[in-house]
Amino acid sequence: MNSYFQNQLVKEILNKYRVIWGLRHALSLMEWDMETYMPREGVNERGVAIAELSLLARKYLLDEKFVELVDKASQIDGLNEYEKGVIRVLKREIEWNKKIPENVIYELAKIRPASHEAWVEAKKKDNFEIFKPYLEKIVELIRKISESVGYEEHPYDPLLDHYEEGLTTRKAEALFDLLKGRLRMLIDKIANNGVYPSHHRFEDMQYDEAEARQLVTHILNLLNYPSGRGRVDIAPHPFTIELSRKDVRITVRYEGKDIKKAMYSAIHEFGHALYELQVDENLEYTPIAGGVSLGIHESQSRFWENIVGRSYGFIKLIYSDFTRIISALKPESPMDLYLYVNTVKPNLIRVDADEVTYNAHVIVRFELEKMLVNNEIRVDDLPELWSELYEKYLGIRPSTYSEGVLQDIHWSGGMIGYFPTYSVGTLLSAQIKYAIEKELGKTIDEIALDNNLGLIREWLREKIHNWGSTYPPSVLLQKAMGEELNPEYFVKYIESKYLKLPEQFLQ
Ligand code: MG
Repeated sequence: MNSYFQNQLVKEILNKYRVIWGLRHALSLMEWDMETYMPREGVNERGVAIAELSLLARKYLLDEKFVELVDKASQIDGLNEYEKGVIRVLKREIEWNKKIPENVIYELAKIRPASHEAWVEAKKKDNFEIFKPYLEKIVELIRKISESVGYEEHPYDPLLDHYEEGLTTRKAEALFDLLKGRLRMLIDKIANNGVYPSHHRFEDMQYDEAEARQLVTHILNLLNYPSGRGRVDIAPHPFTIELSRKDVRITVRYEGKDIKKAMYSAIHEFGHALYELQVDENLEYTPIAGGVSLGIHESQSRFWENIVGRSYGFIKLIYSDFTRIISALKPESPMDLYLYVNTVKPNLIRVDADEVTYNAHVIVRFELEKMLVNNEIRVDDLPELWSELYEKYLGIRPSTYSEGVLQDIHWSGGMIGYFPTYSVGTLLSAQIKYAIEKELGKTIDEIALDNNLGLIREWLREKIHNWGSTYPPSVLLQKAMGEELNPEYFVKYIESKYLKLPEQFLQ
């Protein structure tokens, strides 16, 4: 073990932890394979294999001797920050796993692949009934998890905290309440002033997939995604998966139409990958080697996707290569391309949402999940309530299940309490923008225009990535920016970007 970990007890814990690390490495590889290349009919057996290995990892984690060592270490004074981080993370994991009955964990792990397949089929056939029995079972298991872990105020709390350490229903409500009021007004104002179009001709146009791949490769090179430490594959639902600090893989989707979807899903996943790639290598094999929470993770992906990728500076940077590589689309000017990637329009699909309306999609899911977990509504009620909430927050209603309640993969995998982290990340991405600009004395636009993105990567590495999970999210944010999550920055960002065009374009 390296010099970061000096305490004998912590060293002993980390030695024992290696087998858990190894199992998780294998599990990640199995998940990656399942989402990319595995023959479809193998999913049930893969589900069993994943469930068995997950339980084995849990067994090592809850091993009496191991738990005793962690307890003992947690009472020592004088541990350094990294050592404290290791103990904090392990204690959280032990608590979570200890409280949830083994059969609940096993059942959830086992049902996931089949449920995923049912969801895929249900979405394809636009038939909610196909997915409903699986979702009912999953909700039942998630309620059991919430009850087992326990809570003071709301059964949704332990689920939120699991994905975002420290987040509670009450805190999420406060964030969303602020956004609901301010964003609704902004959405109307932006729609009425018409500075940003609600549609662009490229959105209906086909592209050549080989060219799109070339563009994505070009952009990933520009962003400095290291080919020797990652790879890019195709998956229906783009994701990032890290096996170690030196093997962080991303996936992309090509739909054949509206090329910005492929472009920005690649930039998004790059943001996730960069976080893992820039964690201090001395933390490898320890429980603090990965990103600290889903919200912080999403702040990284949304930062690169939107704050950098949708800035006029970045568009000017890639403009000539875009026009050279993509033969079917002929933007008239950088401005034309900029407007294409920044159209604003309430739509039905979260992953295609623009920056302005994105959080409304999350609010819908947050409200539904909260009621679902709290037994206020049943799975049966979801399709209709989904439509009502879309009407309420976005002014539109889906006409199919596929464009409504069946659009997201998360519930099929038992991920309830996850969606709010998307908003946490989106809000943070704007906060990070202002922190970087203040500290570097340059705007993101200027940095991108100069092709100086290394400055941004370095800031993120030093302030956020480097630390892995050493500090809980709120402490990390304090240290990085002197302030915890503050949604005002996001509102300020949207106001300053979307009520007028970038001055540089008008000159
Ligand atoms: Mg993401």
